[in-house]
Amino acid sequence: MKFKKNIIKIAVDGFSSCGKSTLAKDLAAELGFIYIDSGAMYRAITLYSIRKGFFEDQNLNSVELINSLNQVNIDFITDKNSNLITLLNGENVESDIRSLSVSSKVSIISSVPEVRKKMVELQRQMSSKKSVVMDGRDIGTVVFPDADIKFFVTADIETRAKRRFLELVEKGQNPNFEEVKKNLTERDFLDQNRKDSPLVKAPDAILIDNTNLNRKEQLELALYYITKTLC
Ligand code: C5P
Repeated sequence: MKFKKNIIKIAVDGFSSCGKSTLAKDLAAELGFIYIDSGAMYRAITLYSIRKGFFEDQNLNSVELINSLNQVNIDFITDKNSNLITLLNGENVESDIRSLSVSSKVSIISSVPEVRKKMVELQRQMSSKKSVVMDGRDIGTVVFPDADIKFFVTADIETRAKRRFLELVEKGQNPNFEEVKKNLTERDFLDQNRKDSPLVKAPDAILIDNTNLNRKEQLELALYYITKTLC
């Protein structure tokens, strides 16, 4: 594909488990861009906070977290199969950050403004010199308000919960469907209602409802818009 510009930024936002990471990864592979999973970064800080004992049940000691933010280093590498691996202070935490214990606390961590400030800085640094597809909740609104194209992905809650449930089963976990659905509903609520950078569709984002689309159809639809807008 031949673009009008050299460096392109594609923002993919949406609700939890709506397929936005799948779309972002597929787009990056198809276009030869780098892929950045911004949710993995919030998950890595959450894992760090759990390990350091910053939580007492669901209560976060945000002062301790904020004071130790400069000791948290998050990075990505790709393995031999081109899968993205999240590193927390050099350790591969890709599997640990997908656990339900992290999922149940990540929206608390991601509502802390100091955490968001640090993540946004890192996200901009990681993609300053390269064409990128980044997925998350605030990419089109805060991280790259000037993105070349923005997608907002959604699907109905039953469909999203089924997809997430099957994903966890495939990873060898033993999930409970109702718990998975409850976690998605809670995260949607917290992500949409936090003060700092809430999950909201940017006015200029293209809405993709993939409830009745398969992976290939969703990719083709996004590529259609990209070709129309950027080539
Ligand atoms: O995308 P994923 O489901 O892995 O994101 C986990 C959580 O990280 C979200 O529920 C949200 O609280 C937070 N997040 C965010 N901003 C982003 C990406 C993720 O607040 N850009």
